[in-house]
Amino acid sequence: MAVPKRNQDGNASPRAHAHASKSAMLLAALFMAQGCREKLEPASAGGVQVLLPAFAGKSGKDDAASGYLERADGRGSRAVIAWDVDPRPGPVTESEARAAAGRPDAEATAAQVSGHPAILLRGMKGATLVWRCDKSARLFRLASEGPRSREVAELAAHARCHAERLVSNGEVPAVATAALGASFRFANRGRGSISYVSDDAVLTLFAGQSLSGPRDVEAARQEAPAWIAAAGLADAQVQSAELAPGPQSHPGIEVQGAAVLQGRPVRWTLLFWRCLQRQKTFAGVVFGSGEHPPDPSPLLAARCHG
Ligand SMILES: [Zn+2]
Ligand SMILES: [Zn+2]
Repeated sequence: MAVPKRNQDGNASPRAHAHASKSAMLLAALFMAQGCREKLEPASAGGVQVLLPAFAGKSGKDDAASGYLERADGRGSRAVIAWDVDPRPGPVTESEARAAAGRPDAEATAAQVSGHPAILLRGMKGATLVWRCDKSARLFRLASEGPRSREVAELAAHARCHAERLVSNGEVPAVATAALGASFRFANRGRGSISYVSDDAVLTLFAGQSLSGPRDVEAARQEAPAWIAAAGLADAQVQSAELAPGPQSHPGIEVQGAAVLQGRPVRWTLLFWRCLQRQKTFAGVVFGSGEHPPDPSPLLAARCHG
C-alpha cells in the first residue's frame, strides 16, 4: 500500500493529499473488483465435493444418482453443480454438453475437470462446464453466472466428482412382469441400468435423468447412438425416428437402427420418454438378431412411477 510522503513539520503537503485521495480511489476500485466476488466455502452432497460462493441462498439434493448443490444471492448471481447417473461410455460430446447445459448457442471449448475431458459453454449469461465422470458413471454440469459469482473454471478447479465410491444405481424403472411377457427373465443390474433377456431379445432400461431429454425427433436421432453404446452394442446406425407412445401413457420418441454385438449384426429399438410424475427422462433399448428392429412392446412394460 502506498503511504503519502509527509513534509518535515509532519503535515501532509497539498500534493501528498492529492496522492492520498488518488490512492484511496484506486484501492476502493480494487476492493470492489475483488470484494464483489463472494468468498468460497466447501459444500458436499451425493459423494460430490466442491467449493461454491458463500451466498445466503442454499439448496441441494443429497442423492448420489441424481442430485445438485446450488448457491444464489437472489440478485442474479448463482453457482450450481448438478449430476445424474449416466452409463453412456466415453467423454461427453459437444452436442451432449449443449443439450445437458441448455445452452444451444453458447461458444464451446474443450476443457478438463478432475482429469476428465469436459466441454466449456460460454454464453451471454454465464458459463457451464459439462463432463462425464467415468469413475462414478455420472454426467456433471457446473454453472456459474452473475457479477458476484466466480469464474466457472475457478469452481471446477476444486470440484471432486469421484472422491467417494458410489453404491447407488439410480432410479431404474421397474417392469410390469405381465406386460413384459413370460419369455423375459432378469439378466443383470449395472450402474444406472437393468437388463432382461428372452430367447431372441435383450431389454435394457436406464436410470432416469433430471435432464430434459431429446426435444424432438432430430435430437433423439443424435442422442441415440450413445445409449446404444451404453447397452453394450458397437457401431450404432440410426435408421428411423418418430414420435411414439411411451410406457404409462407418457409421450415418447422411438428410434430404430442397426448395430454390432461381438461381430454379429443386431437390430435395436430405443425409446426415450419423460415421466412428469418423477420429473425424469428415461431411455430403454431392446435389441435382437432378427432382420427387423424388434417390437417395442417390452419397453412399454417399464414402470417409471407409481
Ligand atoms: Zn470424476
Ligand atoms: Zn412415469
